[in-house]
Order: sequence, then structure tokens, then C-alpha cells
Amino acid sequence: ESLAQIAKVDGDVRAFLKVDEEGARKQAAELDKKWANSSTRGLLGGLPVGLKDNLCTEGLTTTCASQLLANYNPIYNATVVDKLAEAESVTVGKLNMDEFAMGGSTENSGFHPTYNPWDLSRVPGGSSGGSAAAVAAGEVYYALGSDTGGSIRQPAAFCGVVGLKPTYGRVSRYGLVAFASSLDQIGPLTKNVEDAAYVLQAISGHDAKDSTSAQVDVPDFLSALTGDIKGLKVAVPKEMMGEGIDAGVKERVQAAIKKLEQMGAVVEEVSLPHSDYAVAAYYLIAPAEASSNLARYDGVRYGVRKQGQNLLDMYLETRSQGFGSEVKRRIMLGTYALSSGYYDAYYLKAQKVRTLIRQDFERVFADYDVIVGPTTPTTAFKIGENINDPLTMYMNDILTIPVNLAGLPAISVPCGLAEGLPVGLQIIGKAFDEATVLRVAHAFE
Ligand code: GLN
Repeated sequence: ESLAQIAKVDGDVRAFLKVDEEGARKQAAELDKKWANSSTRGLLGGLPVGLKDNLCTEGLTTTCASQLLANYNPIYNATVVDKLAEAESVTVGKLNMDEFAMGGSTENSGFHPTYNPWDLSRVPGGSSGGSAAAVAAGEVYYALGSDTGGSIRQPAAFCGVVGLKPTYGRVSRYGLVAFASSLDQIGPLTKNVEDAAYVLQAISGHDAKDSTSAQVDVPDFLSALTGDIKGLKVAVPKEMMGEGIDAGVKERVQAAIKKLEQMGAVVEEVSLPHSDYAVAAYYLIAPAEASSNLARYDGVRYGVRKQGQNLLDMYLETRSQGFGSEVKRRIMLGTYALSSGYYDAYYLKAQKVRTLIRQDFERVFADYDVIVGPTTPTTAFKIGENINDPLTMYMNDILTIPVNLAGLPAISVPCGLAEGLPVGLQIIGKAFDEATVLRVAHAFE
């Protein structure tokens, strides 16, 4: 079914960078054989999944949508890929993204853009745009994405699907190609909240191969889906409902909040006073970490090598030709922010702001169970509309970035349409309390 749907719609949507038909059929045949003599099924038994192309898959190209890694074939699987195999999922292929996950529209892919299935003249969001579009178009049952500053939640909102960013440390990052290591998290994009709970269950847990993976128990996320949110305390930050948020988005989110109230939740307005500084802090910290992480792409160890007169020239040619312009912009910003003399003024200052933002959340979570607001200030914009305006593009992440800076879990769940386009409701939880986030999202949905 999945392969048939891909054949039918992916010529228009272009969510995939690689469809592994042969591999998918082989995995499915192996499961059929295994199941012929057993009645037990894995948690995700037989479900076709698409993987964002920054998740390492053994023997299957993993390009990060970069020309520089066009021929990169990992020799190992990301931990999440092994976990999905354990849960008996079937990998159908690799999904498009902004190059190295830098962007919010999938227009920064080094190969081709992806188109929003709701309106093909619009972006699917990003950077996990291929993942969101593939789920929305019914090409896969669910997908995995990664979220550094909103890259699961924003495309989920734009494509009308559910996207969950787990707490930093909940899911192993081993085998996720690093963008900004202190922010990156892997998570599911699904058709509904229950599916998100299943996938989170399958991919969570401590992993000795990722030193930032947390040693905390994994609860039963499915049993959290009780449908009951009576008495739950919901905070609505006034900064998330203020200026800059489209009227249509605000209206849908206000209606969603009213619904939570009708279900018995206690809703109150709060303030996250430092959220104004989140985008500035993020666009120093993320590029700084990226500039360091991407230093490894030198034409020697990974991917494509370009010819040069000598070693330095080879590095230069490889990186100049291999990276796209947004990736180069980030490397330059990050290198500058980390350079001696500027470190204290930029990087260190941004880290201090990050602490203040985390403390804002801690203060609110002392009295409330979840924070809700919109996922994005607008609905899906037109292809080409913002591509030459990086600042507008960066401001689009204003509602998702604070969550990454604080390391918290958050979900985007569809809450209706504005002028025919999906709107996402964002529900943010306490660290490692995905269970409550899922419970609220499930009750709302
Ligand atoms: N749009 C943000 C950026 O460009 C977030 C990307 C992400 O979460 N990977 O950095």
C-alpha cells in the first residue's frame, strides 16, 4: 500500500530522497516468514516507516540532503533505526529535509524541494518537511524526524499531522548526524497522538552509545492516554499569543484552549519574560555547535571529494562545492561567534540567556502541568516566499526554539484550519513528562 501510494503521489509531493523498494519488500517478506510460526507481533509490527535522511541506515545512503554526502553509505544504524527494526517496522526509504537540518521549509535541500500535500504551491515546513509531507500524503504510516529548533513540530503543524519532540536525552542521538548537539532530538511524526505514543515507546530509553542519553525509566506512554484532563493546570504564555501571530492561527488556538477548559482543565495566563531573546540565543548557539560538528566534512572521511592542487585546496573545493548557501552561512556565523575575542560577547552571553529561558519555564512549571500555545506564527507559506530573507525564516521558529533551549518535551497537534491550511496547537511539558503532554494532546484531538 505504501509503495503504491508513493508511486501515485510522490511525483508531486517529492517527500522522498530514496525509496528502498527492494529493501522494504525484503523486510516485509522476512516478517511474513517469522510471523507464519508465531502469533506475537512487535510493537510496530509491519508498519511502513520513512526516515529523515539524517538518520544513519546501514547500507542505505544517508545524505542529510547535502551534495557533500550524496554518496555516503553508513556502516552502522542509528540506535533508533535498530529499535524500529526490533519493533518490526519496515523501512520504506529516506525522506527529504533542509540540508543538515538547517531551515524551516525544506527549500534548503541540496536535491529538490518538497511540496505541501495540502497545497503544492506551499512549503511543507522544515527541516523535517519530507517526514511531515510523507505522513500527510499517506505515503508511510509514520515517520521519524529530528528537532533542533522546531524541525518536527513546525512541519507537523504545516502539514496537519502530529509531531513530537521528546525531552533532550529521552531518545538516543547515536547515528543522528549532528547539527547542534545540545539541542538535537529525534521524534515521531504520525497521523494521531496514539501513534505518537507507540513510536515514542519503541524509540525511547538509555543508550550507552550516546553520552547525553538519560538514565531515566521509560513509562508506559499508552496507559497515559486516559482522555481525562479534569483539574489539569494549563498555562498560556501571553508572549505566545501576542503580536506577530496571524489572526487565523490565534483564533484556532483560542478555540482549542476553550475546548481544554470545557474538558475540565484550569487555564491561566502566564509570562515567559525572556522568550523575546530565544531566537537570538539560538542563532548563536546552534550555528556555533554546527560549525564545530560540520568541520569533519573535509573530503577525506565522509562523502564526496573534489579535486584540488594540494590538501588545503582539496578541503576548500570539497566544502565550497559540497555545502549549500544556508549551511555556509551557519558555519560562518558559528565560527565567528566562537572565535577568540568574540566568545564572551556572543557564545557565552547566549548560554546565559539560555539559562534564563530555562528558568522561565521552571517557574511556570512549579504551578502548572503543561504550557499551550500555537506551534507557528503562520500557516504554511508559499514556496520561494521567504527563501531570500533568512531573518524572516529564522523568526518563524520563535515559538518552538525556547523549548529546545530548555530541553523540554513538546507536541504539535492539529487544531483546525485557517483559510484552508492546517494550524498546530503546541503543548509543552515538564522534562521527561511526555506522558502528560501525550495525555492532553490525545484528550484534545
Ligand atoms: N528552523 C530552525 C533552523 O533552521 C530549526 C531547525 C531544526 O530544528 N533542525 O535552525
